Amino acid sequence: MVFIKRLEMRGFKSFGARKASIPLEKGLTVITGPNGSGKSNVFDAIRFVLGDLSARSLRADKMSEIIFDGSLGEGPSKMAYVTIQMDNMDRRIPVDTETVTISRRVSTSGFSEYFLNGRQASRGQLVDMLHLAGLSSSGYNMIMQGTITRLADINPEERRRFIEELVGIAEYDAKKADARVQLQQAEMNLRIAAARISDVQARLDRLEEE
Ligand code: ATP
Ligand code: MG
Repeated sequence: MVFIKRLEMRGFKSFGARKASIPLEKGLTVITGPNGSGKSNVFDAIRFVLGDLSARSLRADKMSEIIFDGSLGEGPSKMAYVTIQMDNMDRRIPVDTETVTISRRVSTSGFSEYFLNGRQASRGQLVDMLHLAGLSSSGYNMIMQGTITRLADINPEERRRFIEELVGIAEYDAKKADARVQLQQAEMNLRIAAARISDVQARLDRLEEE
């Protein structure tokens, strides 16, 4: 299974110009700290680097607002930069390296650039690649603060959909529906072909008699 080995942030939200580096391991990691200390900002950084386009879902009004805007004794940053290193030993991400590094930086104009293993890449390339490994910035592999309580409140059917999406069944359901439509089309074509065959056969029979 793909997991994040390291997260690095520079100039992202409450993280200033000095690089903040968080090593992670397989299994459970807990980040604790007082209110407003930046725990959720760490989570936002992961969404950000996975290509989230909505400033709102990163809890900002516009993209440039996620850039560190200074604090006592430190001036604002000119750009926000986030990198994650993912373990890809089992090659679930279709890139032939043991570690896959993706980075994103955004400038004060709100313009984003993406990098895959240090090389510039398009957002689309990264998003498609991560999708194949079941990773996305909006998927339920990331649960926002407050979502857990909502999970407890929703009805069983919604909860089932939620879990199905979480484990990746929803994608197969969509593929199954597609396959059904194709099957119906194929059956229709088959019936048309069979009708033509019996038509031709009838003509053949007549010709033989003649
Ligand atoms: P809680 O326990 O209340 O959920 P938290 O640890 O999750 O708190 P965050 O929401 O991650 O806290 O961090 C909020 C802090 O981040 C606020 O102090 C806010 O001022 C700071 N912050 C957000 N955006 C920026 C920015 N662009 N520049 C500097 N600081 C920022
Ligand atoms: Mg929080």
